[in-house]
Amino acid sequence: ATILGIETSCDDTGCAIVNGHGQILGEALHSQTLVHLRNGGINPIIARDLHRDSIDSIVGEALAKSQCDISNIDGVAVTVKPGLLASLQIGVKYAKYFSRKYKKPIIPIHHMEAHALVARMYEDIQFPFLVLLISGGHCLLAVAKDVEDFLLLGQSLDDAPGEAFDKVARRMKLRNIPEYSHLAGGRAIELAAKKAKDTHSFQLPPPLVRSRDCNFSFSGLKASIGRTIQNLEARHGVVGAQVIPQVHELCASFQLAVTEHLMHRTERAMEFCIKKELIPPDRKNLVISGGVACNDFIFESLKALGNKTQFKVYRPPPPVCTDNGIMIAWNGVEKLRKGLEFTPNFDLKDIEPQCPLGVNISNQVL
Ligand code: ATP
Ligand code: FE
Repeated sequence: ATILGIETSCDDTGCAIVNGHGQILGEALHSQTLVHLRNGGINPIIARDLHRDSIDSIVGEALAKSQCDISNIDGVAVTVKPGLLASLQIGVKYAKYFSRKYKKPIIPIHHMEAHALVARMYEDIQFPFLVLLISGGHCLLAVAKDVEDFLLLGQSLDDAPGEAFDKVARRMKLRNIPEYSHLAGGRAIELAAKKAKDTHSFQLPPPLVRSRDCNFSFSGLKASIGRTIQNLEARHGVVGAQVIPQVHELCASFQLAVTEHLMHRTERAMEFCIKKELIPPDRKNLVISGGVACNDFIFESLKALGNKTQFKVYRPPPPVCTDNGIMIAWNGVEKLRKGLEFTPNFDLKDIEPQCPLGVNISNQVL
């Protein structure tokens, strides 16, 4: 099967054509990161307008690169949940137009399932496996039991880690440092942290130490680093941590605190999965994905955890961890392969801006 995938759930307009062997025949992506950086966050109206401006050329570009005849495309997969309503609508409208024009069935896709499953396009990872999704809007641990069958073990009670990185980067005004000015907040913090002389300069209180589940919390860390920044600013008589000598140490300390929290919760999920036989003891696999998974410090730390617990840790190539059309097309391929039904007459009113991933058993994870 060959599937054309469309992604517009947030601030990236993506399209790709992927075949049944997991080969990417063509891909195109338009990122809005720079615009939203300049505006100090995502404005949904601006995001929608930018999707509208670029969707046709992005799909056209992906098709042209693929040199694929439209007649060889078996269906159009499109993100229908979760995400920004106005952004999702642009992708779904376009998919409906494409589906009508070329008589192709629509395959509705759950954005987080797509983040989770795309690792299978690159490596032979059998179900069930543990997955940690860390992105701009989500932080969750789940067991992927099958293409459409997930168990949610835990999620963030407040901010997502990408959101926390972005807010802290903004608070520090990292954008005023030319080498970081064009980068997403998390990426800017990762690079700045590499220059730190000491990773433990600033101690931040670890979140949720008393709760024994697999949920996450990042707002306390964000507030705590905010107070540290404020004190340093007062001491130096400046606003914006980018001019404070310890800016790199601030970034490193925050990144470390986020990483340790992710590791603790993931280790707990690993133990739970083995104890409850949700993951076979001879096939212990962890997939990490989502934009924050691009962070090599986090990835290496989780690999070290995997060494300790004998889990193999997989990550899709970093450009495929952030939003893209490839993962949507691949999810379409997987659904088709499972013989899952196409959805005739998918309607704009069927879009779900909020949609949890899988069956939530987080209150049983103790
Ligand atoms: P969701 O998937 O939850 O709907 P999203 O689609 O906006 O959210 P992604 O595109 O998957 O999120 O990820 C974007 C986030 O990833 C941003 O918050 C960004 O700061 C973060 N990010 C990107 N690169 C890095 C990095 N190297 N280190 C940490 N965070 C990063
Ligand atoms: Fe995403």
